[in-house]
Amino acid sequence: MTFFEKILIANRGEIAIRVMRACREMGIETVAIYSDADRNSLHVHYADEAFSVGEAPPAKSYLRIDRILDVARKTGAEAIHPGYGFLAENAGFARACEEEGLVFIGPSSRTIEMMGSKIGSKQMMKAAGVPVVPGTPEGIRDLEEAKRVAAEIGYPVLVKASSGGGGIGMQIVSDEAGLAEAIEKGERTAQSAFGDSTVFLEKYLVKPRHIEVQVLCDAHGHAVHLYERECSIQRRHQKLVEESPCPIMTGELRDRMTASALSVARVSNYVNAGTVEFLFADGQYYFMEMNTRLQVEHTVTELVTGVDLVRQQIAIAAGDPLEFSQDEVSLRGHAIECRINAEDPLNNFQATPGKIVRYRSPGGPGVRLDSGVHMGYAITPYYDSMISKLCTYGMSRQNAIERMRRAISEYVIIGVKTTLPLHYALMNNHQFVEGKTHTHFLSEEHIQKSLMRALREDEARMATLATSLRQTKEVAAISAAVGAYLRTRS
Ligand code: ADP
Repeated sequence: MTFFEKILIANRGEIAIRVMRACREMGIETVAIYSDADRNSLHVHYADEAFSVGEAPPAKSYLRIDRILDVARKTGAEAIHPGYGFLAENAGFARACEEEGLVFIGPSSRTIEMMGSKIGSKQMMKAAGVPVVPGTPEGIRDLEEAKRVAAEIGYPVLVKASSGGGGIGMQIVSDEAGLAEAIEKGERTAQSAFGDSTVFLEKYLVKPRHIEVQVLCDAHGHAVHLYERECSIQRRHQKLVEESPCPIMTGELRDRMTASALSVARVSNYVNAGTVEFLFADGQYYFMEMNTRLQVEHTVTELVTGVDLVRQQIAIAAGDPLEFSQDEVSLRGHAIECRINAEDPLNNFQATPGKIVRYRSPGGPGVRLDSGVHMGYAITPYYDSMISKLCTYGMSRQNAIERMRRAISEYVIIGVKTTLPLHYALMNNHQFVEGKTHTHFLSEEHIQKSLMRALREDEARMATLATSLRQTKEVAAISAAVGAYLRTRS
């Protein structure tokens, strides 16, 4: 094996720790970067070395390519892992690493650039015979063309930003009267968020499922898929719950979708870990885009395949051939991930920054918790609202759901409102339990009503829990003192 000796992790929070964990297992030293707001964050303490890269706002720290490269230079890091978000899909950053002689743990800057354009990647996939959502073949040039295409594919249509991400700039248009305004607004939003005003039209699929395929490709021409993930539970076009396998998957559909995903990887000469995203509706699947990074939800794939995706990313970046063939990757059991965000589900998922005053994490059989927080941790408004990722694994989907209910009931976060109670309600919702989900599941009125009812009931449960925790305060103080004592001895 030809691994690196030292890797810089250009990220923060749970994902920085996730990457460092793989590094520690592989005997690789780690370098963390942090902003003023993260001086005392867990990822800083976990790393072998840590350096400040600036003030709290991302543009003044985690997005400062020059400062990150300075840290890499002075610490002698050979490679940079970007995590997800921040600079993970920034072709300029990947290129700057390449020019510095640093290994960017991800695909090449050219691949990132190509896949960063939703229009360009769709055109390429269509040419390769992969089904794509019908829409304008290029960016919208004028209103007349947009009207013609929309009439052809049929309303509702979706206005999308070609360089978009995170659901930003996406708008549903239900008839011709709303088209001009939506395009104009879409272009404005896209320009200010992504520096590229190009928007295009796509058929808006009603109640689709979001299904994605994980791939791993080495630099020697080998590519494997690691089955699919279902990510239909979303709010504002962003994922909240992910699972593997997809509950409605059949052998035949899986063969077709994974073959398409591998075609996507092949035609783009893809190297490293990537995710091919599809929408699925009425028995048809359509390529949406390829994400050229480690996904938040890579955890569920790891649980059902046993493959450590970060380790594979590092090995691939070091030039190693894949350690296994397609036949050696098997899927066993079922895994679910709930994103625990500091958000108020009863108030339109508004972010709720604040201090975590009590924290108790779940454990036991089939539970994996990837977290970047602890008791006393202050969630700042500067970054993503995700606190942790709670995953459960079971021999069946039902078993994974039962474990998720149990794990949520053990998980205590007091001080900020979180999505925990919503997940609890979801895991008890019979439609979710039956696997009958789609991307607008959370906005359906009857679902909202039943979830609201469950949330209110849960508030009562939380109140009881808070009281019992207050009563155990002395016990907690004693165990904290014992913990501190043990740490000074080790
Ligand atoms: P982004 O890159 O901004 O996250 P994506 O293209 O990945 O955007 O889409 C995110 C989500 O938006 C999808 O999971 C789905 O819920 C919704 N979406 C995107 N395209 C369509 C479409 N053509 N029809 C219906 N929903 C869509």
